[in-house]
Amino acid sequence: MTGSVTVIGLGPGAEDLRTPQATAALAEASDIVGYETYVARVPPRDGQTRHITDNREELARARHALTLAAEGRQVAVVSSGDAGVFAMASAVFEAIEHGDTAWRALEVRVLPGISAMFAAAARLGAPLGHDFCAISLSDNLKPWETVLARLRAAAGAGFVIALYNPISRARPWQLGAAFDELRKILPPATCVAMANAVSLPQERVEIVSLAEADPARADMRTLVLIGSAATRRVARADGGTWLYSPRSAPA
Ligand code: SAH
Repeated sequence: MTGSVTVIGLGPGAEDLRTPQATAALAEASDIVGYETYVARVPPRDGQTRHITDNREELARARHALTLAAEGRQVAVVSSGDAGVFAMASAVFEAIEHGDTAWRALEVRVLPGISAMFAAAARLGAPLGHDFCAISLSDNLKPWETVLARLRAAAGAGFVIALYNPISRARPWQLGAAFDELRKILPPATCVAMANAVSLPQERVEIVSLAEADPARADMRTLVLIGSAATRRVARADGGTWLYSPRSAPA
């Protein structure tokens, strides 16, 4: 049997935010490859082998998946959210581009998932209703100067910004530095949403202003959304707030 690699986005966490296509592909796989936390989200099945790897070893994990597929296995590579957003799908193609030419004959499929920014936006209202961009704050894979340049450009151009990977034990100061940089460009009243563990039981979603945004409020499962000048808060009758970006931009 020809081997295959299926790269699967598991969604933000809740079972019912995983697509039926992803669930079906997981049930068919002979091998599951991924970071421990994500593999743990796949229900174990008899006859299926689980390969757990360190989170930082993305390329090695991708090569491992391709090697298994070249041996005829049906391999599922799992990521959270959407596998193409700061996740394993790119690592698989990078491994194919630079690896064994036989890997190009494998069946490779990428199944979409609900990315954290979409799950967070839906909780908040509709903050991504107009032009937006996504930036990973991790400087493991790019220089910090590049992160700052992109933040300045995005804020200056009026994009709503979804910040992934805002903080980790190895990167404790980056989110504070990002807020400081954005405060040089955006008004203090700019809306900032901190969305933690969206769709999970521990979910916590807060809307603050850029002036009061506290980096200590974020953890490794936080999506930070920076509003644009057009992004609006609407008070709900129950004391909560909706956040949305209007469909049309001011001239
Ligand atoms: N491929 C994933 C992103 C991986 S990067 C996706 O499409 O969502 C990991 C980052 O995603 C985290 O640091 C956090 O910023 C965000 N994230 C993942 N799950 C989340 C959740 N349930 N709630 C909020 N943010 C989440």
